[in-house]
Amino acid sequence: DSAILSIKGLKTYYKTRDGYVKAVDDVSFDVPKGSVVGIAGESGSGKSTIVQSIFKVLPKNAEIKDGKIEFEGKDILKIDEKIFNKEIRWKKISWIPQVSMDVLDPVYKIKDQLLETIFAHEDMSKAEAMELIVNQLKAVNLPLDVLDRYPFELSGGQKQRVIIATALLLNPELVIADEPTTALDVIVQAQILNIIRNLKNERKFSMIFVTHDLALLAGISDYIVILYAGKVVEMGRTEEVFKSPLHPYTQLLLKSIPDIRKRKEKLQGIPGEPPDLINPPQGCRFYPRCPLAMDICKREEPQLINVSPTHYVACHLRK
Ligand code: ATP
Ligand code: SF4
Ligand code: MG
Repeated sequence: DSAILSIKGLKTYYKTRDGYVKAVDDVSFDVPKGSVVGIAGESGSGKSTIVQSIFKVLPKNAEIKDGKIEFEGKDILKIDEKIFNKEIRWKKISWIPQVSMDVLDPVYKIKDQLLETIFAHEDMSKAEAMELIVNQLKAVNLPLDVLDRYPFELSGGQKQRVIIATALLLNPELVIADEPTTALDVIVQAQILNIIRNLKNERKFSMIFVTHDLALLAGISDYIVILYAGKVVEMGRTEEVFKSPLHPYTQLLLKSIPDIRKRKEKLQGIPGEPPDLINPPQGCRFYPRCPLAMDICKREEPQLINVSPTHYVACHLRK
């Protein structure tokens, strides 16, 4: 497999009064062409920071300290913003932001938001653009009457479909979905997942799918990257990670997935809190919460090592 996207040693920090928040701290992974890579980790682990680094929409206080993000062989961190916006953003790489981002502009009708996305990137007549839009709405199962409505007149699920339609309008090669279903109710969540899965099968784009809910990835991703406190702690093919999770954090994440057969078992988070990312623990960042921690874990940072050609883990128990 050749990679459509290759992240190498990415460090994205946020500057604050108290120091740098090391939100993404030396992260590397590939997205093989045509595949879906799931990124999972608790709230605050750096998932959105990775996504916003790729799409170049980081908040103002963010600084990329090191690393490369190669898209089709070119480092997008070195591409001029004007060119990135004209040629890559929405056209080759698309973003389905976290629901809470509220990206639809409240004062524009849906039709105008969609038209604007097209006209910013393509020379097309209005009739051609409308044809594209109509096809796109059908693909996400939205009735055409949403075109003349404003975002506040739509339900959460409808809004999320408009956002998916926008992301896929220009047939991008890579789609980055950041918790596309979080905050929607379970039924709508399943519908949206189905739409994404069907579109993916039809159009064959590559995808990064971000979630804090590892269970969601079983049905959608080919590879999984597990993130903890700004670092990759484990990654591999989805089956490998589910069948033989090697990092204690991954094991705990999997245990916290509710088992329908044992209804009585309550859904439990992992005890303890993620560390302060301004002064993260020396050694293994999971050390303060790890049930299997050893002395060395406090002192030495575990490196990512291969346990199969596609399976990696960073833990002192595995060397
Ligand atoms: P969630 O699941 O809640 O969306 P996430 O994994 O997407 O979490 P990020 O939003 O990437 O996490 O945040 C990573 C870390 O960076 C967190 O500690 C967060 O508090 C911090 N952070 C995010 N944005 C900023 C900012 N603009 N300034 C300072 N710190 C920030
Ligand atoms: Fe736990 Fe040590 Fe492995 Fe970190 S390196 S996950 S503390 S056993
Ligand atoms: Mg996030």
